[in-house]
Amino acid sequence: MKVVETIGEMKRVRLELAEPVGFVPTMGYLHEGHLALVRRARAESPLVVVSIFVNPTQFGPQEDFDEYPHDPQHDLALLEKERVDIVFMPSAAEMYPPQFSSWVEVGKVTERLEGASRPGHFKGVTTVVAKLFNIVQPTRAYFGQKDAQQLVVIKKMVADLNMNLEIVTVPTVRESDGLVMSSRNTYLNPEERKAAVVLYQALTLAQKLWSQGEKDTDKLRRQMIDLIQSEPLATIDYVSIADAETLDELDTVTPPALVSLAVKIGSTRLIDNVVLG
Ligand code: AMP
Repeated sequence: MKVVETIGEMKRVRLELAEPVGFVPTMGYLHEGHLALVRRARAESPLVVVSIFVNPTQFGPQEDFDEYPHDPQHDLALLEKERVDIVFMPSAAEMYPPQFSSWVEVGKVTERLEGASRPGHFKGVTTVVAKLFNIVQPTRAYFGQKDAQQLVVIKKMVADLNMNLEIVTVPTVRESDGLVMSSRNTYLNPEERKAAVVLYQALTLAQKLWSQGEKDTDKLRRQMIDLIQSEPLATIDYVSIADAETLDELDTVTPPALVSLAVKIGSTRLIDNVVLG
């Protein structure tokens, strides 16, 4: 496994590779969720490139950039085991030199949900992902359904800007009680960790009610909100039932509908989603 730290070297290495490349962008502190993407890439691609880069431009000023967990040695050991070919680990100065001044912005689908709660977040995401695509030149890139809106935004960017690659969606990987695996789970104390299962419980409640015939999104949202509010450590940011492609809020569930939520457990903000239909 080759570890590459500069853009120049990554581009040189890529030029020598004739075979299709599967690419998995990450912010590191890897867990089984990330590894599901890596395994899918490994199964489908002769060459696998994983990037580890905690992208400063996608964090708001009050967010957790400075505390974001990292353990590069552990990450590299995990990726070696998965038979990854190349790990691209640039520094922030390498990706954003002082003269940097160009941004990629996707409209409309970035304005709601995570975009509304985290102004500027998707501008940082699309800019860094576009840069990584230009540097790595992947044939396919793998993203987790866990970050459902990110997938919608990246697919839109790739389509609108005619980028020459395929985006592959990988299902969400969960802990045994249903909590989504996330690098941020490390912020939860034991009591908060138990409380965090309420996100999944609210989503499974929506799934159950919908499968029993409930289509009124106000009623579904109300039941989810009541359940989450019964957990004292939880504070709701949003609970949404939206069209899975346009992200427009729905009055009536018309599949495929994206049920997504953001909830703070103590001071840790967690997101999760399921698709109905
Ligand atoms: P991150 O390091 O959090 O930026 O995540 C890198 C990629 O891994 C993104 O495409 C995420 O959606 C994906 N990912 C993170 N956690 C999970 C999970 N529990 N299940 C599936 N994909 C995940």
